[in-house]
Amino acid sequence: MSYQEEREQLLKIVQQAYKVDLIRMSAGNISTRIENDLVAITPSGIEYRHMKAEDISIIDLEGNLIEGLKPSSETPMHTAIYRNVPRAKSVCHTHSIYGMVFAMLQEDIPVMNVELMVCGAPIPVAPWAALGTAKAGEVTVKIYLSRPELSVILLRQHGLVAIGNSLDQAFIKAYNAETGLETYYKSRLLGTPQPFTREQINEIKESYGL
Ligand SMILES: [Zn+2]
Repeated sequence: MSYQEEREQLLKIVQQAYKVDLIRMSAGNISTRIENDLVAITPSGIEYRHMKAEDISIIDLEGNLIEGLKPSSETPMHTAIYRNVPRAKSVCHTHSIYGMVFAMLQEDIPVMNVELMVCGAPIPVAPWAALGTAKAGEVTVKIYLSRPELSVILLRQHGLVAIGNSLDQAFIKAYNAETGLETYYKSRLLGTPQPFTREQINEIKESYGL
């Protein structure tokens, strides 16, 4: 098996994402760049709790399979991001509950808490693109290129996508976004939460070194 280390690392992140409910059954997909313009990505239709390192697909930047099982049906979005967004070393895409809830509301997410802030909030909702299409890649790439500080985007009526400079980072961003959205959702049930002011944002940026 080639790229064993990279595959083991990806498997570990998938298991963590499964454990914290970011991914369920086979929904969502995670990938990372490896050497020679290749990408390791979760395979299509496998329940992640049963996945083994050798199942992970190795593909090129056009999505052609090099080794492993058939890659995720949402591969075109991942490869479009890698071809066009150099800061994306890894991609974590989830159909997590709160990401999906807000992706259906079609409203940008304000800077409500630090968890959303570290994801680059305000977080936009990308225009509708059917799952697994090249268009899903185009709409996300367009936003990432226009917002260099942004790591998380909501995909309209679909889920969320996070990029990072490592697998850990992409996973942490997705987790932060989901936590930030969950608390935002719950606070809206109880009252009218207010986003941070510009002054508060600057204060936090200074103290956090963001
Ligand atoms: Zn999806």
